[in-house]
Amino acid sequence: MSTIASKEASKESSRDVAGSGAPATVKLLINGEFVESKTAEWREIVNPATQAVLARVPFATVAEVDEAVRSAHAAFQTWKDTPVGARMRIMLRYQALIREHMPRIAKTLSAEQGKTIPDAEGDIFRGLEVVEHACSIGTLQQGEFVENVAGGVDTYTLRQPLGVCAGITPFNFPAMIPLWMFPMALVCGNTFVLKPSEQDPLSTMQLVELALEAGVPKGVLNVVHGGKDVVDALCTHELVKAISFVGSTAVGTHVYRLGSEHGKRVQSMMGAKNHAVVLPDANREQTLNALAGAAFGAAGQRCMATSVAVLVGAAREWLPDLVAKAKTLKINAGHEAGTDVGPVVSRAAKQRILSLIDAGVKEGATLALDGRDVHVPGYEQGNFIGPTVFADVTTEMEIYRTEIFGPVLVVLSVATLDDAIALVNRNPFGNGVGLFTQSGAAARKFQSEIDIGQVGINIPIPVPVPFFSFTGSRGSKLGDLGPYGKQVVQFYTQTKTVTARWFDDDTVNDGVNTTIRLR
Ligand code: NAD
Repeated sequence: MSTIASKEASKESSRDVAGSGAPATVKLLINGEFVESKTAEWREIVNPATQAVLARVPFATVAEVDEAVRSAHAAFQTWKDTPVGARMRIMLRYQALIREHMPRIAKTLSAEQGKTIPDAEGDIFRGLEVVEHACSIGTLQQGEFVENVAGGVDTYTLRQPLGVCAGITPFNFPAMIPLWMFPMALVCGNTFVLKPSEQDPLSTMQLVELALEAGVPKGVLNVVHGGKDVVDALCTHELVKAISFVGSTAVGTHVYRLGSEHGKRVQSMMGAKNHAVVLPDANREQTLNALAGAAFGAAGQRCMATSVAVLVGAAREWLPDLVAKAKTLKINAGHEAGTDVGPVVSRAAKQRILSLIDAGVKEGATLALDGRDVHVPGYEQGNFIGPTVFADVTTEMEIYRTEIFGPVLVVLSVATLDDAIALVNRNPFGNGVGLFTQSGAAARKFQSEIDIGQVGINIPIPVPVPFFSFTGSRGSKLGDLGPYGKQVVQFYTQTKTVTARWFDDDTVNDGVNTTIRLR
C-alpha cells in the first residue's frame, strides 16, 4: 500500500528514480485502495527552489469524487458504531507513526513546498499535537446528564457523528492543516474525504498512508485531488454533511456559500492581515527578533504571519534596527542547513508578490528593505524573494489592505495605544494580533478592546495549542466553530437531547394530563 509519488518525493526528481522518463503520479485513495485517476487533467508538482518536477497530481473527475464520497458513506455505517476506545487506539498508533516518520515527511514537505527542514518539522509537529489530542476523545465527546429534571424524568445528550465530512486544505501547511481535520473528524465517528492542495499533496499523502497503517479501516478516509470542480462536487454532494475549509478568503467564501446552500455545516478559515503593535516600553531585542521571525519565516506564507507592524510613539525609532535584523536572515533552498527564508511556493506566487511590492512603491510607501532582486547561488531558478520592509505606509494603500502572503512587512506609525487598537479594529481581517509591551495594564486593556480572535502578548504568532481551538474571527473566518480543540468536537458531532422516563410499574397516579406541567 503506497502512493508511488509520495514514496519517491524525497528524491529530487521522481523521473530519475522511476527511470521511465515520466514523473510519478499521485494516487487517489478510494475505499482503502490507492488508485490511478482516469482524468485527462494533470498538474506538475514542482520543487520551488529548483523547478524540478517531483510528481504529477490528477484533477479527479466528478465520478471519482462521487465514488470517494459513496465509499465514505458505506464505511460510516460500521465506523460510527466502532467503540470509542478502538477509535482512540488507532489515534494512539497514528501519533507514534507520525513521530517516527517525521524526518522523512519533512524532507518531502520541504521539497514540494519550499519551507526549511526545521519549519517543515514544525508543520508536522503542530499537526501531530492534534492527533495526540484526538486520543482524549473519550472525555471530549462526553454528553451531559441531569437526573430528575421532573418527577422521574432524566435528560441527557448524545454527541453523535454526522456522517461523511470533507476537508479542503491550502498549500502553506500541507501537514498541519490536513491533520487539523481528518483525525478529529474520524475519532468522533465520522468518515472523511480529503482534498489536499494540488500544489503540494505529497507530504499529505505520506500522512494518509500512515493513517491506514495505524488501522483506519477501508473507506473511512478517502482522498481526491484537484481544484474548483472537485471542491464544488464535494460542496454539493448530497451525502456530504460537513465541510472544513482552510485557504484564501475568495475561495473560502465561495465554499461557505455553496456548502451552506446545499445544507452542509461549513467552517471556513481564510485570509489574514496580522498586526503586531509595538509599545516603546517593550523589550527591544526580543521584540525585533519576534517581528523578523514572524514576518519572514516560511517566506511570509503563514496565515498567522505578522504582515503589519504598528510602531507606537517612540517605538517608530526602532525601524532601522528592524531592517538591520531582516537583513541578517539567510535566503536559500529549504533543505540547505542554516536557511531562514526559503522560496515562495510557485512562480505565479512570486509574480503576484512582486507586483504588490511594485504597487507599494507606486503608491508612495518607503521601501526600507527591497527583497526583489535576490540571487541565491546554485538555485538561480528558485522562486526567491528576500525580506522586504515598507515604511510610511497608510491604511489606504493596497499593500496594507491586501494579504500579500510573502516575506513583506508593512510598517505604520501611530501616536498612542488607543490609536493602534482603533487601527487594528478597522481592518476587516481578524485572524491574529500581537502586542509587545512590559506593561500589564496596557496588555490587559489591549486584550479586552481588540476585536481579533487570537491575541498574543509578547507572542508574535499566537496559534493556540490543540487543547484550545483556533479562533480566528471576523473577515478571516466564516462559520461559528473553529478547527481542533473542543470547538471541533462540536463541529463534527450532532447533539441529540434525550428526555427519558422509566416507570417502576403500571400504576397510574394522575391519568391523562392535557396541560404543560409546572415543575
Ligand atoms: P486557496 O484558497 O487558493 O486554496 C485552498 C484550497 O481551495 C485548495 O485545496 C485549492 O485547490 C482549492 N481551490 C482553489 N481555487 C478554488 C476555486 N476557485 N474553487 C474551489 N476551490 C478552489 O489558498 P492557498 O493559496 O492554497 O492558501 C493560502 C491562503 O490560505 C492564504 O490566504 C492564507 O491566509 C490562508 N490560510 C488561512 C488559514 C487560517 O487558519 N485562517 C490557515 C492557512 C492558510
